[in-house]
Amino acid sequence: MSKRLNAVVTGSTSGIGLGIADAFAAEGMNVMLNGFGDKGEIEKTRARLEEKYGVTVRYDGADMTRPEEIRALIEEAAAAFGQVDVLVNNAGIQHVSPIEDFPETKWDAIIAINLTSAFHTTKAVFKGMKDRKFGRIINIASAHGLVASPFKSAYVAAKHGIVGFTKTIALEGAEFGVTCNAICPGYVKTPLVEAQIPDTAKARGMTEEEVIQKVILEAQPTKQFVTVEQVGALACFLASKQAASMTGAAYQIDGGWVAK
Ligand code: NAD
Repeated sequence: MSKRLNAVVTGSTSGIGLGIADAFAAEGMNVMLNGFGDKGEIEKTRARLEEKYGVTVRYDGADMTRPEEIRALIEEAAAAFGQVDVLVNNAGIQHVSPIEDFPETKWDAIIAINLTSAFHTTKAVFKGMKDRKFGRIINIASAHGLVASPFKSAYVAAKHGIVGFTKTIALEGAEFGVTCNAICPGYVKTPLVEAQIPDTAKARGMTEEEVIQKVILEAQPTKQFVTVEQVGALACFLASKQAASMTGAAYQIDGGWVAK
C-alpha cells in the first residue's frame, strides 16, 4: 500500500514507548499508538506526531491483559496501514514488594502485560511478516531481563521470559527476513520508575533520595539515567534494513549496569 514502514508500539502513551513512537515517526514510519491515559492528551500526542512528521499516526486503547483486544489492535493497524512491518512490545508495569507480601493479582498482571501480551501480538503479526519476507519485532525487556534485583520477582521473571521468547521468535523468523531482538534498558526516568521509588524506599528502609542515589543511579556506572531518545534511536536501527543480521539478541543500553 505504501512504501513507509508501518509500526505498532504497545504502551506508547508514555515514557519509552512514546519515545520510540516519536523516533519512528521522525524516520517516516506510520505508527499505531497504544496505552492508557487521558483521552484528550493522547489525541494531542497523536495529532502532534502526525503534524510534525507528516506520517499517519493512529491510536488504539487495547488493554494488554485482554487477548481479544490485542488481536483487534493488530487487525486495526493492518487495516489502517495495509500491513504491520514493525512491532514493538513495550507495554509494561512494575510492582516492588518482598516475595512474602507480593500480591497474587500483581504477579498475574505483570506476567500478562510484560510477557504474555508479546505472545499475542507476535502471533497476530507473524504470518504476514513471513509472507512478505520482512518483519522487525523489538521487545523492550530490561537489564532485569539479564540480572535480578530483590523485591521485583514478577518483573524479573517476566523480563527473563521475554528474552527467551525473543530468541525463539528469532529462530522461527530467521529464514524469512523477520528479526526479533530485545532491548534491555537500565533506569530511564519515566512514570514507571518514579512510581516505584516510594515502595523501594519502604522495602529497603531508605529515604526516597537514598533510593535514587544508592539503588537507581548506583546500579549504573555512568551515574546517569538512560534517556527515551537513546532507546528510540536503538529501536530505529533495529527496525532498519541494515539490521537484517541482528537477531535473537538482547541489547543492553544500561550505562554499564550488567557489565559489573
Ligand atoms: P511508563 O509507565 O511510562 O509507560 C508504560 C506504558 O504502558 C504506558 O503507555 C501505559 O499506558 C502502558 N500500559 C500499562 N498497562 C497497560 C495495559 N494493560 N495495556 C496497554 N498498555 C498498558 O513506563 P516505561 O518506563 O516507559 O516502561 C515501558 C517499558 O520499558 C516497560 O516494558 C518497562 O518494563 C520497560 N523498561 C523500563 C525501564 C525504566 O527504567 N523506565 C527500564 C527497563 C525497561
